[in-house]
Amino acid sequence: MSDLILFWHRRDLRITDNTGLALARQRTPQVVGVFCLDPQILKGDDIAAVRVKYLIGCLQDLRDRYLQAGSQLLIVYGNPVVKIPELATGLGAKAVYWNWDVEPYAQKRDRAMLAALQEKGIETIGVNWDQLLHSPDEICTGAASPYTVYGPFWKNWSSKPKAKVVAAFRDGKGLSADQLEKVRDYGVIALPSSEDLGFSWDGELVIAPGEDAAQKRLEEFCQRAIYEYEPERNFPYTDGTSQLSAPLKFGVLGIRQVWEATETAMSASRSDEAQNSIRTYQQELAWREFYQHVMYHFPELADGPYRQPFKDFPWDNNEKYFQAWCAGETGYPIVDAAMRQLNTTGWMHNRCRMIVASFLTKDLMIDWRWGEKYFMQHLIDGDLSANNGGWQWSASSGMDPKPLRIFNPASQAQKFDPDGEYIRTWVEELRSLDTEYIVTGKITPLERRAVGYPQPIVDHQVQQKLFKERYQKQKQTD
Ligand SMILES: Cc1cc2nc3c(=O)[nH]c(=O)nc-3n(C[C@H](O)[C@H](O)[C@H](O)COP(=O)(O)OP(=O)(O)OC[C@H]3O[C@@H](n4cnc5c(N)ncnc54)[C@H](O)[C@@H]3O)c2cc1C
Repeated sequence: MSDLILFWHRRDLRITDNTGLALARQRTPQVVGVFCLDPQILKGDDIAAVRVKYLIGCLQDLRDRYLQAGSQLLIVYGNPVVKIPELATGLGAKAVYWNWDVEPYAQKRDRAMLAALQEKGIETIGVNWDQLLHSPDEICTGAASPYTVYGPFWKNWSSKPKAKVVAAFRDGKGLSADQLEKVRDYGVIALPSSEDLGFSWDGELVIAPGEDAAQKRLEEFCQRAIYEYEPERNFPYTDGTSQLSAPLKFGVLGIRQVWEATETAMSASRSDEAQNSIRTYQQELAWREFYQHVMYHFPELADGPYRQPFKDFPWDNNEKYFQAWCAGETGYPIVDAAMRQLNTTGWMHNRCRMIVASFLTKDLMIDWRWGEKYFMQHLIDGDLSANNGGWQWSASSGMDPKPLRIFNPASQAQKFDPDGEYIRTWVEELRSLDTEYIVTGKITPLERRAVGYPQPIVDHQVQQKLFKERYQKQKQTD
């Protein structure tokens, strides 16, 4: 058996601040990376072409980094539980390392991987919660149970010291010519394009792939916008948020590094407002962890609602309304602007995600899982835990002590897009109309016809009343 360790990358597409990779490097300089393109994931019905394009860009970048460090990133296609043990055996690797994941599919796959490698006598290390600042078992209530409410979770989570950034991977030792010759027998392929995998995304990527781009974005955000995050983060037409969700989803950026950058900004901040902004930003990072922890402890969340009244909620599930929502043709300007932004760019601002999710569930009375899936099919940062958490929060079906939250699209637009800038950017038909009309949605049927903009498909006031009635009835029958 050689000295070689295979490092299996999944949602940690970087060499900087990577705990599992750093552990492997402490044992040997001969660490070779591997990424498995898993058809079970790629052939699923919750994949977005834009996300695959971003992923492939990140893999290209990672491959270049391995080469610069004197090693290789190997790409295989197939069932990882078969492919990786085969490759490890073929190369005579002494161990396979990886970082753990919280998602139900990943958990099952990782257990199968452990068994498959052990059977072949290959050592495994897969115990690093690299994508989290705290492991799911570390943050629990006094009764040693997982938290189901964010407030106390945050209090506990924020009180704990955070791990430091781990060293970068440098000067590895790759495969010999003989070994390289051999890997071809184990299904190692050249990195395909997203088109080769059946996904085509013609638009530009709103977020450039790779470590450098993510690091630059973090640096820029922490130089300026983080100090004004609190007042600016809710306005969808400004650049007030970090746009780091895709790098964090794919692990192109280490979470310890993001945390350290926020702490450095905190030390440099001069005012209470700035400190408050940074704290708010840290709370968002904690929301990300909260949803990952609950997905780990309650994997059933991936399949359905948490709260009882929603287990058999009488949704209308009107297909025509759903199509109008997807296309951004509901006749509600802020909703349509947001959906068109998503369809065109693969991105949507958080405020708008909440508005459209509330509209789908509370106004159109469509099962939140339809929206959850549509988001996964279109978002560059689509992530099971965050997306499921966001949708269950919006539908009131999740872990939320304030169940009946209903957003009024007009008030939301008045508050967060008061000059109609965002709406005008994405809803061309409305550009020439007065701001007051487009933000309140008070556009006459004649004006709508004149500019070619749809009539509202439902009446918000009527629908919210109906939803509340249904909800009360559901609660009584449970
Ligand atoms: C219905 C709905 C669906 C969502 N789907 C996703 C998704 O698929 N993937 C995803 O990463 N986020 C999702 N979110 C959360 C949030 O909208 C995005 O994380 C955020 O808009 C990304 O922009 P940003 O990086 O500029 O965020 P910032 O405001 O800069 O926040 C910093 C980071 O904190 C994390 N974060 C912020 N808000 C949340 C949140 N509410 N829940 C979990 N993590 C959060 C993200 O990693 C984000 O990059 C969803 C929210 C809703 C309401």
